[in-house]
Amino acid sequence: MWEQLLRRCHDRATHRYKAQCQNPNRKIEIGFIAAPQLNAWAATWEDTDLIGINVGTYLVLCDLFDRMLGHPNLFPKIGNPRAETLREIAEIKTSIENATKKNPFAPQDAERAKYAGQLMLLAFDFLFQHEFGHIFNGHTDWLNQTLGFCVLAEVGASAIPGLSGLDLQTLEMDADSFATLDGFSRLNLASYNGFFGSANDAAFALLLSHYCVWRLFAEHVDGDVDAILSEDHPPAVYRQRFNISYAIDLLLRDGIWTENAVGEQLSAVVFAAEVAFKTLTGVPIAREINAPDTYEKGGDLLGRLTENWKLLRPQLDLVKRGGVLAP
Ligand SMILES: [Zn+2]
Repeated sequence: MWEQLLRRCHDRATHRYKAQCQNPNRKIEIGFIAAPQLNAWAATWEDTDLIGINVGTYLVLCDLFDRMLGHPNLFPKIGNPRAETLREIAEIKTSIENATKKNPFAPQDAERAKYAGQLMLLAFDFLFQHEFGHIFNGHTDWLNQTLGFCVLAEVGASAIPGLSGLDLQTLEMDADSFATLDGFSRLNLASYNGFFGSANDAAFALLLSHYCVWRLFAEHVDGDVDAILSEDHPPAVYRQRFNISYAIDLLLRDGIWTENAVGEQLSAVVFAAEVAFKTLTGVPIAREINAPDTYEKGGDLLGRLTENWKLLRPQLDLVKRGGVLAP
């Protein structure tokens, strides 16, 4: 499995280099790191791009989606939910140590196990493409030029000395958009949506997998926008919203969703994810996470990041690997 995952990442990166890079033979090294947390990092050292993914990233995602599909009351239309065992509620972890070979929560029904595996892959792809976006859109080279060699890490990363929270968060938003665009641009490919049967069913699974990644880290955000911008990453609850709304734009652009069905289709994704988190943990999403001032703050934050993007974009344009940066 580890080898397969690395090959999948490597193939996608080199395919993009060949198609869009000024130097199509550009090298990238991708590896797993023996650490239990969901986390990953990107860097560029001399002529080689580097991506490190914690083993915990794979384990946490497997655990999450296995537990969802391994529960008899969740996802009733997938396979045979009656084959699954009712389990006690437990916390969903973002760090997994001492993983056993056979996940005790793995679904019993083969179809449900496969569906859980696909959700895991979609979420894993998103996290990998986020790291690759840091490299492909020139973030790592720009950091090397402006601050010297830096490693862009994700969860729990401390700020990079010399780099403002605003700049770092702007890069994070761009890497998120890169990963969202990559995933949703594949939906019309028969090879991509073949497992799900239709682009629409694949869209449900893709959006659900991304929603769940952010949901793992959702927490109430204290402080105003200036306080938020002093951190290294935008809060997960805002990244979730920015990315889901971008994904909806892409679904409408490609005709996979239609304007008049957006509400219903989005609700289906949010409902499936929230019911799953509540069923597995016994804890509903905190009301303050969805409070009106959170929406307001999110809008202000997005405005500040978008404004700053206009300043960073021309600098990144000079060092990006290829393609076209977001406007
Ligand atoms: Zn990042």
